Amino acid sequence: MEFNIETLVRENIRLMAPYSSARHEFAGEASIFLDANENSIGSPIPPLRLERGLELAHRSISVGGGEALRPLNRYPDPLQTTLKQKLSEIKGLPPQNIFLGNGSDEAIDLLFRIFCEPKHDTAIIFPPTYGMYEVCAAMNDVRLKKIPLTEEYQLNMDAIEEAIDPHTKLIFICSPNNPTGNSIRRGDIEILLNNFDGLIVIDEAYINYARQRTFIPELSTYPNLVILQTLSKAWGLAGLRLGMAFAAGPVINYLNKVKYPYNINTATQQLALEALDNINTVNEWIITTVEQREWLTEQLLALPLTKIVYPSDANFVLVKMAGAKKIYDYLCTKGIIVRDRSRIILCDNCLRITIGTPEENKLIIKTLKTYEQ
Ligand SMILES: *Cc1c(COP(=O)(O)O)cnc(C)c1O
Repeated sequence: MEFNIETLVRENIRLMAPYSSARHEFAGEASIFLDANENSIGSPIPPLRLERGLELAHRSISVGGGEALRPLNRYPDPLQTTLKQKLSEIKGLPPQNIFLGNGSDEAIDLLFRIFCEPKHDTAIIFPPTYGMYEVCAAMNDVRLKKIPLTEEYQLNMDAIEEAIDPHTKLIFICSPNNPTGNSIRRGDIEILLNNFDGLIVIDEAYINYARQRTFIPELSTYPNLVILQTLSKAWGLAGLRLGMAFAAGPVINYLNKVKYPYNINTATQQLALEALDNINTVNEWIITTVEQREWLTEQLLALPLTKIVYPSDANFVLVKMAGAKKIYDYLCTKGIIVRDRSRIILCDNCLRITIGTPEENKLIIKTLKTYEQ
């Protein structure tokens, strides 16, 4: 296999001059910033963790621990240096291997833009899977080859080998997979990493709930590996919109080249920094959610309506039920919304149920017990 990022990248992206701000170019210590047409007087709201009395400070303010908070009248740090430093410690990889996006959805879109020539290049996905790969492909006018998972919701390796052609740039593997909940066999992913000379994107949005470990340690072995994670699920910050891509330096550099310069706003950077201090709480929530997943699975299996509860490595379960659509409608009338997946491939009569709080889980089971077929 011959992996060469320069031949993989679209020519217009390779040749384009990136947007450059004056502050970006200036590396020294400055205290007067008259380069970006910001409001020098101030902003109507103080920085989120600003100490009293410093409201009129114009520069990044040191608050100890090497953290610098920016007043909101200033543009955000385009490369999110402080936040990446902290993530680097938590994730165990250097900041140069981290890209941050406005949700991991931004990274998905940028990968298409960087690597796939519209109408010409292709990408491969494995339905049933996360919907945004297809949305971003369509938006970028890139043809998708869809290779359905097997009945066991694993990769169909023979069909993948057949589908890969010289124009295939990206392969998206969602593991644990949404909406089926299972992890994809590690050995199969490794075969693709070793043999595909485009990029393998592993979407690990649900990795915190999985028995299988992350591929992050494999980044030093595979220049063609991109890992997506997010603060939207286990970290409980879907409203913040912060997604992460981990990859070798050259891939990260291209992601930074094409992103909007200030894609992560100052409020998000500051709140994320604060949130990352609460890793112990997040770990407790993960334990609770996994316990509740096992409880919900048992309870669902005990219902006469239930045909299959698929084993899950995520914070949801996929359940095959007799008359799923009618059960979905019934739950709606009781004010409980689940995801009806019954019309998508390999998910006939399936509902996807997110693991709720213990109270919510008890309530949905109680409600299902009173359902009359
Ligand atoms: C929820 C989810 C995401 C998260 O996307 P964000 O844009 O980071 O909120 C990514 N991938 C999959 C498979 C998901 O289910």
